Amino acid sequence: MSIERSKGESWTFADIARFEAGRFRTSIARLDPVAQRFSYDEGVKLTDLDWRVCSRARLSRDARFDGKFFIGVLTTRIYCRSICPARPSKESNVIYFATAAAAAAAGFRPCLRCRPECSPGTPAWLGTPSTVSRALRLIGEGGLEDGGVEALAERLGVGSRHLRRLFLQHLGATPIAVVHTHRLHFAKKLIDETTLPMTQVAIASGFGCVRRFNAAIRKVYHRTPTQVRKLVRQTGTQARNQYLFSLGFRPPFDWRTMLAFLAARATPGVEAVEDGSYRRSISFNGRHGYFEISLDEERNALAARVQFPDPAALFFIVERIRAMFDLNADWADIAKSLKADPTLSRRLEARPGLRLPGCWNGFELAVRAILGQQISVKGATTLAGRIVRVFGEPFVASRRLTHLFPRPEVLADAKLTTVGLPRSRAETIRALALAVKEKQISFEGILDESSFLSRLSEIPGIGRWTAQYVAMRALGDPDAFPAGDRALVRALGLGNPQELERRAEAWRPWRAYAAMYLWSCPAKAERG
Ligand SMILES: [Zn+2]
Repeated sequence: MSIERSKGESWTFADIARFEAGRFRTSIARLDPVAQRFSYDEGVKLTDLDWRVCSRARLSRDARFDGKFFIGVLTTRIYCRSICPARPSKESNVIYFATAAAAAAAGFRPCLRCRPECSPGTPAWLGTPSTVSRALRLIGEGGLEDGGVEALAERLGVGSRHLRRLFLQHLGATPIAVVHTHRLHFAKKLIDETTLPMTQVAIASGFGCVRRFNAAIRKVYHRTPTQVRKLVRQTGTQARNQYLFSLGFRPPFDWRTMLAFLAARATPGVEAVEDGSYRRSISFNGRHGYFEISLDEERNALAARVQFPDPAALFFIVERIRAMFDLNADWADIAKSLKADPTLSRRLEARPGLRLPGCWNGFELAVRAILGQQISVKGATTLAGRIVRVFGEPFVASRRLTHLFPRPEVLADAKLTTVGLPRSRAETIRALALAVKEKQISFEGILDESSFLSRLSEIPGIGRWTAQYVAMRALGDPDAFPAGDRALVRALGLGNPQELERRAEAWRPWRAYAAMYLWSCPAKAERG
């Protein structure tokens, strides 16, 4: 088969849209005669991306495709990201995989130059209400630690053989292989980016014991963990319990607009936005720390400085930061569907790369959402600051980080009217805190979003707007939409929420991103 080389060609989003629209929606695995050797079943569909798209992205080292597929080089048996700086191989010598786990399962080893462990996550599964995406979400939250695939399948309400089949069908690898690759990638990150002793790396990346960890690294990299670490030149020294991670995204990424959104809503004492970075105090399993995030534009990454006493929590913390800053999103894909709306189209052009800001803690976000009902963002921020000063646990991390956000146990008994909350709002927050304290509501490990939201809505004072806002920012649902929002109705010049809801139908499944654009880009962005 012949390949059109794309040297010197520049890509437009229209190009990508045309290719992805399904003109050649045949699976890569079936198209490539060599590739068939690696198929698990006849006709396995590894990815919706056409191999021609992959090829062009590979040859032009297009960062917008980073993590959407991986390249297996048949001559070296190594797999790479689309942005690999190494000289591209001939098309007949490569095979494309939808996931890193699929490449690993087919016997390919991760490239030491482009470091597949640093690529953004697979976007195709974000927010889709499928068993596979739920499973991936649980794995990201540290699932499969206890009980393995059987337990994971049970939580998802399917048989383990069925789960295995679904994984093979959609990701090209079994659940065990996916978890193993995830774990190995995180271990490699800790080896490269921290000075943690290898015993700690083994535990933090979930290998359980050093022997298993050593064996896994040796098998994949043909080197000991210490030899792998020697390959990277670490710059600067890190303070005790402090780690600096580079977390990749697919460009574009509108850091400024996201930061402005977070700045307006930053809870005094707990969060701070200064000098282009976001900082907050954190608490996990009874231990406290903080993190600071800034943009590393050159590397298409966010730089995350994490200060935390327990390295075993790093996996959770890093995954949560990735979710909070929406690093797995595929903006080009989102923009493609939203730009059909002229009002959104102008905003998408003015601010390419805006993401859906998530949160560190779902309970905290829900409290903020309740405080924000029918008052200005500024007013809600002031109230949140008062709640933190009175009910939060003091924890001094820096000049502006002085507290941890109050725990549900504390707010369940708090007299919130003393800090100026209207009685009804105070009651709603207390009821929510009580439900979380008594484990009737949990913001972790959510499998069924609609039943979670209906439980949440049973709390008096939590209406549709609040529930949808929580779904947007705490669950990261890309299609959540607070239709009753007056600012959104105004931004589109509509008469009422019903009109807004009708207009928003066309924005599915990305309504949350549309809301972000309408909130964050004022009308002047349309003119300018
Ligand atoms: Zn590479």
